[in-house]
Amino acid sequence: MQDISALLQNSALKITPQRLTILSIIRKYGHIAIDELYEQIRSVYPTISLATVYKNINALQDANIIAQIHPQMQKPKFELKKQQHGHFICKVCQSVYDFKLQNICSPNLDIIDDIEEKEVYLYGVCKKCKGE
Ligand SMILES: [Zn+2]
Ligand SMILES: [Zn+2]
Repeated sequence: MQDISALLQNSALKITPQRLTILSIIRKYGHIAIDELYEQIRSVYPTISLATVYKNINALQDANIIAQIHPQMQKPKFELKKQQHGHFICKVCQSVYDFKLQNICSPNLDIIDDIEEKEVYLYGVCKKCKGE
């Protein structure tokens, strides 16, 4: 498990209780949409506004501590920034799973000089939903 406060210590961001709570919720869920996150954080800080949550989320994104992913047919989700990886999305339960990117991103196209970002989304049905 990553140490949440170490993530903030290594950045220029101030460590605040709200930020620690936001990060621990994101870590717990793996990938979470803003409305779910807001609901969770309100159980800890009942008076926090959505604008404050957005402000913190933006700061954490700018500091490269969290990243946003955009699966099709779903709201954008936030995750803790980690090594580049792909996402498998189950079309039945909507779960998002991380997987390691291996040779999947060596496109055979001469014009490419440098690939800087890899966003890979695969869609299908997970084993849990298949009942295996
Ligand atoms: Zn599933
Ligand atoms: Zn991920």
